[in-house]
Parts: sequence; C-alpha cells; structure tokens
Amino acid sequence: RYITSSMTPPFSNKVRLGGEMFPSAHGIKLSPPRTKEDGLELYALVNGKRLGSQLCVSNPEAVKRAVAYAINFFKKRPDLPWIGMGPNDGSGFCECENCRALDSNEWDSYSSHMATTDRYIWFFNQVVAGIHKVYPGKKLCFYAYHTYTLPPRKHMPDKHIVPAFAPISLCRVHGMSNPVCPDRSFYKKVMVGWGKVVPEIFERGYYFNLACPGFPFSKVHAVRDEIVEARKAGVTGWKVEGIPSWATHTPTTYV
Ligand SMILES: [Zn+2]
Ligand SMILES: [Zn+2]
Repeated sequence: RYITSSMTPPFSNKVRLGGEMFPSAHGIKLSPPRTKEDGLELYALVNGKRLGSQLCVSNPEAVKRAVAYAINFFKKRPDLPWIGMGPNDGSGFCECENCRALDSNEWDSYSSHMATTDRYIWFFNQVVAGIHKVYPGKKLCFYAYHTYTLPPRKHMPDKHIVPAFAPISLCRVHGMSNPVCPDRSFYKKVMVGWGKVVPEIFERGYYFNLACPGFPFSKVHAVRDEIVEARKAGVTGWKVEGIPSWATHTPTTYV
C-alpha cells in the first residue's frame, strides 16, 4: 500500500513513492522521563544491577509513563496515525524475573540471544490500550529487529501494532528465492510468521552493504525477487535504508 521514502517531492512523486512516513522507533519515551534520582526500578536489571539503558518493561510504571508520553504526542500531532517506539538500539535487556517471565524462551540464533519479542508485545499491547482510551484507532510502530525479530509466541499483538522488519544481521546480497542462502530463507519465515498475527507490516530493509558501504553493490535482483514474496507474506509498505552513493550504488538507488 505504501512505499515511503525520505526523498522529497517532486522527485518522490515522480518515482511513485509516498504515503505516511514510518516513524523512527528506537527508544521508549516516558512522561515524566525516568531519572536515577527517582529510583532505579525503571532501569533494566543487567548482571544484578539496575543500570541498563533498556526499560524494565514489566514495571507497571513504565507502561503508565509510556502511555502518558504517547497521549501527549498525539495531543500535539492528532493528524498522525501512529507513534514509533521500541527498545534502545543495542542490548542490555532486563533480566528481572518478571520481564523474563514474559518471554517465550526461544533462542534467536541470528541475534545470539534469547528472543525478547514477547515481552515487548506484552508491553506494547498495554500501551496501545492506554492510548485508545483517549485516541482510539492510533497505531504503535516498532522495528522487528535484533532480539525482537522473531514473531511472538506467547502474547499476540493488538492489530494496531505495526512492525517494520530491520534485518540487520542477515545476508544482504541474496534474495529469498536463493536456495542456498539460509539467512534469506529465515527472513521469509519471519515475514510469514508476522503476517499471520498483524494486519500491517513494513519492510525496513537495508539496500546497501553495511559491512562495506563503499563497495559497488547492486540490490536490484534481490528487490525484484523479494518485493513479490514480501507482499504475499503480508508486507504492506516499505521504508528502506539506502545510501545516496551514486558512484557505487546507482542501479539500486535508481530502482
Ligand atoms: Zn524487568
Ligand atoms: Zn545470502
């Protein structure tokens, strides 16, 4: 339905990009913000200490403050259909008993970590319910990324939750039909799995080679292959990351 881009009109219109911009979704903003002086209960417990940059999402105060922030956000931007939020980029997830009890106990081999999707879906579900008391129909967007890439198993998402796949640890060279690329086969399974539990999904793919960004690289064959598969799996919009490096990425950037 949408293809979004940071390109601006008239060029974006000319290349048929448009739709609402998928919001940035690193970090969960709270109102009032947490401070160490107010106590450490909102900070993730990591190696026995409440020092983590992530939130202790099982803490009801975290839900309450995230809802308060979101309501204030929509008060300022009632025109927007959604708000973005999610864990801070990186690890340091809360190891407290209550947060761990929300997880599915599934190992995510591509992030080399236990999957944390379910704890965040549990949290987002409550935030959405809180937002809807004041702003019914608003959506919550997050990146299905890092340890929260795998589809949920224990807590099914409210239909107003919109993931955007950000497959940072997966192969970027091949398309999903490549029979010898385990990464892209895994990615297809992830897409299909999420497509069964939410009505709207974005792909926030990497259309350049992060490992060696200046290397001449074409994503055209993979895009041609994958957009079809992604659409079948339920992906409804794209907001991809590329680099405007015309010397090395011209075919991809043009496409
Ligand atoms: Zn916790
Ligand atoms: Zn590959």
